[in-house]
Amino acid sequence: MRNDGEVAIVGAGLTGCLLACYLARRGQRVVLYERRPDPRTGSPERGRSINLALSERGLDALRRIGLEERVMADALPMRGRIIHPVAGEPAFQAYSHDGERAINSISRGALNNALLAAAEAAPGVRVRFEHRLTGLDARTGDLLFDTPGGELKATAAVVLGADGAGSVVRARLVADGYAEEAADHLDYGYKELAVPAVDGDFALDPGALHIWPRGTSMMIALPNPDRSFTCTMFWPTTGPGSFASLTGPRAVEEHFAAHYPDVVPLAPGLVDDYLHNPVGRLGTVRCTPWQAEGRVALVGDAAHAIVPFYGQGANCGFEDVVELDRCLAATGGDWAPALARYQRRRKANADAIAEMALANFVEMRDKVASPVFRFVKSVEHTLERALPGRYVSRYELVSFSTVPYAEVRDRVRRQQRLLAAGAAVALAGTAAVAVRLIGRKKR
Ligand SMILES: Cc1cc2nc3c(=O)[nH]c(=O)nc-3n(C[C@H](O)[C@H](O)[C@H](O)COP(=O)(O)OP(=O)(O)OC[C@H]3O[C@@H](n4cnc5c(N)ncnc54)[C@H](O)[C@@H]3O)c2cc1C
Repeated sequence: MRNDGEVAIVGAGLTGCLLACYLARRGQRVVLYERRPDPRTGSPERGRSINLALSERGLDALRRIGLEERVMADALPMRGRIIHPVAGEPAFQAYSHDGERAINSISRGALNNALLAAAEAAPGVRVRFEHRLTGLDARTGDLLFDTPGGELKATAAVVLGADGAGSVVRARLVADGYAEEAADHLDYGYKELAVPAVDGDFALDPGALHIWPRGTSMMIALPNPDRSFTCTMFWPTTGPGSFASLTGPRAVEEHFAAHYPDVVPLAPGLVDDYLHNPVGRLGTVRCTPWQAEGRVALVGDAAHAIVPFYGQGANCGFEDVVELDRCLAATGGDWAPALARYQRRRKANADAIAEMALANFVEMRDKVASPVFRFVKSVEHTLERALPGRYVSRYELVSFSTVPYAEVRDRVRRQQRLLAAGAAVALAGTAAVAVRLIGRKKR
């Protein structure tokens, strides 16, 4: 099956739109099916603005097809974190040892619109809004959609499911016995809160990602081009200090005054936002295999939804697209071996970032506030300066490189073992010196 048949991409989200651009570049005819109406014509959903941190992996994917500049026009660089304690001054922690490298805050909507416009403008790409996939036969490539005009049938040579965490393409593959899936939902949800501009300026430093780590929960804030911030609370869904436990205006005010006192004067719509914005779910979806019959495959969140604590979901989806494109190049556009190769090369990496993203939740909500964490970070940055390219922190490898995620995880494990061994030797050396000194004093 070469470039002659039409490819159906289900889902015109971030991954689907970028994928359409890449396939168009290969001369492939594409139909992009999206269940929603055109997002550029409607108003955004309340409390679902979702600012993303776009980093090197995502930027690399955009750069390869000349989209980086256009997308980055809407982005704001963040060179580190600012940690907000309950009492005391906020403190800045740089992301890289030279303080120069930045991740980039961008609204998911703005990014999606830019990619949608690029996909629509690409030769051979047609976009069909208000087409919700309801059925798929992987053997034949037959598709069934719900549209405002009623049920619609289509057939495609290749079907790529870019329909997000709740993917219907994945559900069909599972229902038809092609794949197995497991979803692990966290007992945490997220809710957004707006911090508007004050006298036309940012209310907080726009050059950093702000974190309010509170042990079992946290809040973060990312800057927007209109000089507002979007805060996102990541709280338990039930139990003490949870979304379920905080329901009235008074309780909300008291909770924020006690735990996030510096936010209260900056968020005039705090109570309204809290009471009316929805709580989103968080979880990890694992599925295997990602492809069936040599003609159907999953990309982005549809294949591997992860928790957002490393800021990598979209970045990872964009890397899928680059990899799939590479695989098509390697097989001369032959889809069946390309899809098998794509899954072989990506699955372990998606599993690795899923694992690292979960681990990073504990770091963000708890460890970043501790002096030990700050000390370890400063040791890491010193090592990075002293051993350039030989010691590289996990954050640097995940956010500022395109080293495959599984290699990052394994390399960081090796580094940690060496560090622990080095620390043990240093400790043993110090102990030996101390024993000698004590011995001399006694004599
Ligand atoms: C709070 C939060 C913060 C995040 N922060 C970051 C971050 O900092 N950095 C980062 O890289 N990632 C982040 N992410 C993750 C990122 O948003 C996702 O990884 C990314 O949106 C996935 O893109 P996608 O295109 O694969 O899926 P989606 O964005 O979910 O797009 C799927 C598309 O498919 C459409 N669709 C669904 N079902 C159907 C159907 N049956 N028929 C037709 N169309 C359908 C949907 O309408 C949608 O347009 C965050 C996520 C959350 C929730």
